[in-house]
Amino acid sequence: MATAPDSTPAGGAAARRPYVVRSREALAAALAAAPRPIGLVPTMGALHAGHASLIARSHAENATTLISIFVNPIQFNEQADFEKYPRTERADLTLAAAAGADIAFIPTVADVYPAGFQTHVAVSELTKPLEGAARPGHFEGVTTVVAILLGLARADRAYFGQKDAQQLLVVRRMALDLGIGTEIVACPIVREPDGLALSSRNVRLTPPERAAAPVLRAALLAARGLWERGERNGALLRATMLETLAREPLAATEYVSCADPATLRELDTISGPALLSMAVRFGSVRLIDNEPLERTTVR
Ligand code: AMP
Repeated sequence: MATAPDSTPAGGAAARRPYVVRSREALAAALAAAPRPIGLVPTMGALHAGHASLIARSHAENATTLISIFVNPIQFNEQADFEKYPRTERADLTLAAAAGADIAFIPTVADVYPAGFQTHVAVSELTKPLEGAARPGHFEGVTTVVAILLGLARADRAYFGQKDAQQLLVVRRMALDLGIGTEIVACPIVREPDGLALSSRNVRLTPPERAAAPVLRAALLAARGLWERGERNGALLRATMLETLAREPLAATEYVSCADPATLRELDTISGPALLSMAVRFGSVRLIDNEPLERTTVR
């Protein structure tokens, strides 16, 4: 797809941009001409190096990489969060091109949810705890839009970040349950040098909040350190994370978790792999982070 015409008004003649399509029909036409395998990277835009890592992975593994940029209204449980969500299409297209995207699907709300739309996809058990408990309706919005995107793209692979660990599990479950043939590929969390996980919401942190935000990583690493030294009591790891977060006055903890990574049920005793996760507010900005406990790391 390297020779695809540049359809973005912003793109200069020499600037490589992904081929932009804005409707279901235009996407179908672009995909009909695209070499397979096709990799899909669903995003809400405001792209950063985390997204770029997913796009680059898809580019390395597929003949065509399709990204979608769509701020999905039905997955926001706070209207203000939806309205304040950063929208940076021009910069997104530059970053996407540099990372290897060939086609960018940037639909309107009316294209994703056409008149008469009435189908929703819900995963029951995995969406109950953690983010599901904190954000009612969020995952139904996610699974509905991802089902639509997977249906439209008919991609061979779709790339999701471990940053949203519960989302990854929920999407995997949905794809399996509905017989969607697309392989769901998990990609590692990309972080700032100080440990803060990259997120489109980070730009909304004030300078003092930004300086305080690496406390999420510090709390995860404190619990990981105990686990690496042999601690297997889930409550103790949760308490360690809470204590670390409580030392940061700007951080308001929503939840910490030490759960079974397959079911997301809280663990009393850790007898196999586990997933540490948390949601923490800094003013109006809500950050999440997680750390899988599978093998010890040499640091
Ligand atoms: P979003 O635009 O926030 O919906 O994210 C789109 C995809 O990028 C999701 O699969 C996220 O998990 C992934 N993602 C977001 N932040 C990061 C990060 N820091 N590292 C890796 N993947 C990420």
